[in-house]
Amino acid sequence: MKIHHVNCGSMTTLEATYEGPAAKPAVNHCLVVETGDGLVLVETGIGLGDIRDPDGTLGADWVAMTAPVLDEAETAIRQVEGLGYDASDVRHIVLTHLDVDHCGGLPDFPDAAVHLLAAERDAALAAGASFRYRPAHWAHGPKWVTYDGTSEESWFGFHSIPLDGLPPEIRLVPLGGHTDGHAGVAVKGDDRWLLHCGDAYYYHREMQDVKEPHPLLDMVQTNSQVHEDLRLGTQARLRELVRDHGDEVEVFSSHDPWELARYL
Ligand SMILES: [Zn+2]
Repeated sequence: MKIHHVNCGSMTTLEATYEGPAAKPAVNHCLVVETGDGLVLVETGIGLGDIRDPDGTLGADWVAMTAPVLDEAETAIRQVEGLGYDASDVRHIVLTHLDVDHCGGLPDFPDAAVHLLAAERDAALAAGASFRYRPAHWAHGPKWVTYDGTSEESWFGFHSIPLDGLPPEIRLVPLGGHTDGHAGVAVKGDDRWLLHCGDAYYYHREMQDVKEPHPLLDMVQTNSQVHEDLRLGTQARLRELVRDHGDEVEVFSSHDPWELARYL
């Protein structure tokens, strides 16, 4: 499998100024995976509909808070086309959760099966239009494929869920606390596993043995959690994963520009 790392939505007010003068906006780290049988998207970021009508689709409050760049070139669909594929080549989308900034690209790939935890889909559909969840992103009726989150299969000590129609090298790994059904996505690379942790943490220094949160991003993640103990427990387990299996697994999160830069 060939894995492409792409940024599908910069957010300028979350500029990551903590590491000195070379400040960069927060990113929206997504994967385009060539499986040999079409493409798999891990996360979708901001979509074309969001760019056409940001206040209506993403919500005016969210737009004011994050100041997204809204550049069509950053959408997953344009980047898929840049690789020489069409939207219809994307057969599967795997989502960490349904927060506004993670699923805006869903309407651009209406034929894809959309894999996620049932708890997340149910919470989003029950919420109506809120700051967090935006029904415009699923008004087209996605082909949801949901999972109950329990699994006997272990992956480096985490539960892991094989996905319908996908090879075992792509799996959901429940990582609770940020939303009701938040999960990571594990993808087997050439020499090690990658774990896309979504919003389970926001900043690479949180994965150090002694965590060093980013002042602004830590405020964002604390304000958006649904369960603090679960979120902090998830982060502690991810730190153990990095410490004990860092030679077999590489972790990264959605919004950290330094983590994305490793792959570009
Ligand atoms: Zn996010």
